[in-house]
Amino acid sequence: MATAKPVQIVGGGLAGLTLGIALRQHAIPVTICEAGNYPRHRVCGEFISGRGQQTLARLGLREMLDHAGAISAHTAAFFPATKSTTPRLLPSAALCLSRFTLDAALVKKFRELGGELQTGTRGSAVGVHALACPDRLKPELQPEGIVRATGRRAQAEESGSRWFGLKIHARDVPLIADLEMHVSPQGYVGLCKINGGEVNVCGLFRKRADEGGEAKNWRDLLRGQPGSPLRQRLASAEFDENSVCAVAGLSLHPQRAASRAEICVGDAITMIPPVTGNGMSMAFESAELAVAPLAGWSRGEMSWDAARQKIARDCDTAFTRRLAWAKWLQRLILTPSLQNPLVALAARSDWFWRMAFERTR
Ligand SMILES: Cc1cc2nc3c(=O)[nH]c(=O)nc-3n(C[C@H](O)[C@H](O)[C@H](O)COP(=O)(O)OP(=O)(O)OC[C@H]3O[C@@H](n4cnc5c(N)ncnc54)[C@H](O)[C@@H]3O)c2cc1C
Repeated sequence: MATAKPVQIVGGGLAGLTLGIALRQHAIPVTICEAGNYPRHRVCGEFISGRGQQTLARLGLREMLDHAGAISAHTAAFFPATKSTTPRLLPSAALCLSRFTLDAALVKKFRELGGELQTGTRGSAVGVHALACPDRLKPELQPEGIVRATGRRAQAEESGSRWFGLKIHARDVPLIADLEMHVSPQGYVGLCKINGGEVNVCGLFRKRADEGGEAKNWRDLLRGQPGSPLRQRLASAEFDENSVCAVAGLSLHPQRAASRAEICVGDAITMIPPVTGNGMSMAFESAELAVAPLAGWSRGEMSWDAARQKIARDCDTAFTRRLAWAKWLQRLILTPSLQNPLVALAARSDWFWRMAFERTR
């Protein structure tokens, strides 16, 4: 039997690590190069919702997450600036685990399976020449064997707004549901119970690109307006200062995998608005969709370009509809005049609540 050709994955986030694990399960030689180190906190709501949970089960990773302390979320409640809804049952339960723990557990598994992980190494330093301007290279000129899992593509502004995210963990936060979403004209903050008795406090905010003035401090942004239900929730919270992290330059405009010249997984394809809590699921799902074509290429049964096309087609089939729904949902939620009616509709109409939930995952 011909020796399997090695796959190199650039980026050791959820998509890269999941793909690395799945390829090792097929005995494909894999190296992941990751710019950062582990364990580390990430800006993320840490709420895994959608089909990615089945991916985790199929890859034999679900139990590992349970052992790592993942907890299930069953209820959600929504709060515009002043009102609140009564908690609703989530149509399907979500899984909640800090990224600090989740990414480290995936790293451990990848290494146990014989994968090689290079940390503190950027793709360009290990021969990924195309990474500087990948999409300008035609598919046939892309170097074979290299998968891009480098996460979101930074974009300074989008439609006149700059998007940024903040995250911190806290204790002593009384919640009426496993997930609370607090929306305001500037964005939204999710409060979600996670492992270890902590609550994830994570927000997505926008600032008009032409807006001057001083940047607000992260505490004020995450705590919400004085008098708001969010401010009350966090009034006596004990924050874990080591867990603070921030990310800027987010691009939330949906992209198609087929428009990428490289093989991409996870946010490197496109980012789904975080309000859906589905980005991690897309990272797991896209990694799973990439396994068979990459294994085929590695064993000499498929060309690199055929593998690229198959992965892109399957990802677009899986994600295009939910990305379109998520874009609209995010737009509606961030329209101040629609926030109250939308929350009222989600509270009163079981049909609307289920439809919005299911179409975005
Ligand atoms: C505010 C906010 C809240 C969110 N909340 C949720 C949520 O509740 N639920 C949910 O499902 N999703 C959520 N998401 C989305 C989720 O975090 C992402 O979809 C997910 O992390 C994507 O995984 P990934 O592996 O594609 O990218 P990442 O996890 O970002 O990993 C990419 C990795 O690549 C590395 N890298 C980048 N460039 C290079 C290079 N040149 N060489 C080597 N390494 C490199 C980076 O260091 C990083 O470790 C949220 C996102 C934001 C911004």
